[in-house]
Amino acid sequence: MKNLFIHRDSQRGVKGTYEWLVDEVKELGEALEGSDKESTESEFADVFAWLSSLANLMDVDLEKAALNKYPYKCPKCSCSPCKCPLN
Ligand SMILES: [Zn+2]
Repeated sequence: MKNLFIHRDSQRGVKGTYEWLVDEVKELGEALEGSDKESTESEFADVFAWLSSLANLMDVDLEKAALNKYPYKCPKCSCSPCKCPLN
């Protein structure tokens, strides 16, 4: 994603890229209400792409950040699978 879009994301900036991410999350929410698997997958991909773009702009390694917080076990109960009560 960085190689593909960093030049455009840099021009758009953090705020504009964040706003795109929010819009894509809304579109994912709409897709989840439907039954079109292909459309839902496409929206997941868009959310991932915009989240990646935002992380790149903030110089955040998304994979590293995710694995630091969720190292194959729940950060709250330290279990895998998680045994925390549903809330
Ligand atoms: Zn847990």
